[in-house]
Amino acid sequence: MLDILGIGFGPSNLALAICIREFNESQERAGNHGALQSMFFEQRVGFQWHKDMLIDGATMQISFLKDLVTLRNPTSSFSFLNYLKRCGRLEDFINLKTFYPTRVEYANYLEWAASQLTNCARYDCQVEEVRLRVNRDRRQCMEVVVRHRDTQDVGVYSTQNLVLGTGLRPKLPKGIAESGNVVHSSSFLSLIKRIDPQRARRFLVVGGGQSAAEIVNHLYDRYQSAEIVAVFPNFGYKPADDSHFVNQIFDSRSVDLFYAAADNVKSFLLERHADTNYGVVDSDLIAQLYRKAYGDKVRGRERLRMRRLSRLEALSSQADLVTAGIRDLHGGGVTEERFDAVVMATGYHPPSLTEIVPAVTPYMSGDFPDQVTLDRSYAVKTNAPIGGRIYLQGASESQHGFTVTLLSALPTRSQEILQDIVARRENQDVSQLEEVRHAV
Ligand SMILES: Cc1cc2nc3c(=O)[nH]c(=O)nc-3n(C[C@H](O)[C@H](O)[C@H](O)COP(=O)(O)OP(=O)(O)OC[C@H]3O[C@@H](n4cnc5c(N)ncnc54)[C@H](O)[C@@H]3O)c2cc1C
Repeated sequence: MLDILGIGFGPSNLALAICIREFNESQERAGNHGALQSMFFEQRVGFQWHKDMLIDGATMQISFLKDLVTLRNPTSSFSFLNYLKRCGRLEDFINLKTFYPTRVEYANYLEWAASQLTNCARYDCQVEEVRLRVNRDRRQCMEVVVRHRDTQDVGVYSTQNLVLGTGLRPKLPKGIAESGNVVHSSSFLSLIKRIDPQRARRFLVVGGGQSAAEIVNHLYDRYQSAEIVAVFPNFGYKPADDSHFVNQIFDSRSVDLFYAAADNVKSFLLERHADTNYGVVDSDLIAQLYRKAYGDKVRGRERLRMRRLSRLEALSSQADLVTAGIRDLHGGGVTEERFDAVVMATGYHPPSLTEIVPAVTPYMSGDFPDQVTLDRSYAVKTNAPIGGRIYLQGASESQHGFTVTLLSALPTRSQEILQDIVARRENQDVSQLEEVRHAV
C-alpha cells in the first residue's frame, strides 16, 4: 500500500517527488517514523521535457528562481543554482546576466533533478487503469494497473492517494490530422531531422503564439533556400504581457485570490489576462522576426511570408508535398498552396479525467461541466468516499488560475498537495496543523 502514487513524471510530479523526499528527510532527522511511501510511473523510457521543442537558443519564459524548489525551500539541494554549481557553470551563468536560461539548459536541469530520484520513479511504465477496491483489511483503496511497455509485464499497486501529473495533449483544429510531413509543434524537431536543408522549398507554420514564432525563426535560419509561410488570424504577432504588476498573476498567493473569486471574476481574469500566456510571443523574438522580414525586403527576396488575417481550412498530402487550403479572413477567398511540410503550432488541451480514471466518474461532483471540481488543495471533489484522494496537477485553470499549466507554481503546489495528504493521514485539519506546514 503506497501513500502516494503519481501518474506521469514530468516537472509537476518531479517537484512533488522532491517535496516528498525532503519531507521524509525531515521526519528522519526529527526521529519520527512518518516517512511516506511513494512511486511515480512514467510512460517514457527516461525523463524528458518537451524534447522536440528544445530549439537552439529558445529561452525559458520564467525566471530560474521559479525552479522546482526555491519558492518552497530556497535551501534545497535541488535548486537550479545548485545544479549550476554541480556542473561547474555557476559563475559562467552569472556572467550571462539573465534570469532566463535556454530551454536546453533547463531540460538538462530537470533531468539532473530526476536522475536523483530513481528510487521512486519507474520509466517505460504506462498507467492503464485505476480501480476502486476494498482490500484485505476491509479498507477502501485505489488500485492502479501499470504496464511495462517493453516487457508487457503488468503490476497492480494499491494507494491511498493518486496524483495525476499527465500533462496536456496536443490540440489540432477540427478536420486536420497529423500525417507524414504534417506534425503538431510537439514533434517539431523530429520532423526537421527528416527534411534535407538543401531540398526543402516551402514550409507552412500555423499559429500565432510563442511556439509558432520560435518555429518560424528556426526554419528561417536552418533552411536558407526555403520560404517560410506563417498563417494566423491576428494582424500580427502579439507581444506577451510580462510587465511587472501583471506578472504577479503567476505568484503563488494569486492562486488563493483566484480560487476564492466568484465565477464571473474568474472568467474576467482568464479573458483579460490571456495575453500573459496564450497566442502571444516574447517581444524580443517578434523584433528578431521583423528584422528578418525587413532584411528580406532589402535583399529583394522575401523568404518570410506572413499570411495575416488568415486561417488554415484543409490539408491534403500527395507524395512528398502537402496542399493547404488557406482562407483569407479579410477577402474571404480560399487559396491552395503547396508545402514540403506543415507544422501545427495550435496549442494543447488538458485530457479529461474521466478518460484516465473512468472508475471515479460516478463519484465526481461539481459545478464544472467540462472539468471535475477540485478543492483548493487540487483534490477531486467526490460525492462519496472513494478510499483515497485524487489530486490533479496541471488541469484546473478555470478553478486555480493561470499557474496551473505552467512551471511557476510547481514548488508551492506540491507543498499544498503534500500538506493536505499529511494532514489527512494524521486526521487533522490542515489549516490548524502548523507542524505539518513546517515539516513540508
Ligand atoms: C515548448 C514548451 C515550452 C514551455 N515553456 C514553459 C516555460 O518556459 N515556463 C512555463 O512556466 N511553462 C512552460 N511550458 C508549459 C508546460 O506545460 C510545462 O513546462 C510543463 O511541461 C508541465 O509539466 P507537467 O509535469 O504537468 O506535464 P508534462 O511535462 O507534459 O509531463 C507529463 C508526463 O506524464 C506522462 N504521462 C501521461 N500519461 C501517462 C500515463 N497514462 N502513464 C504514465 N505516464 C503518463 C507523459 O509521458 C509526460 O512525461 C512550456 C510548454 C511547452 C510545450
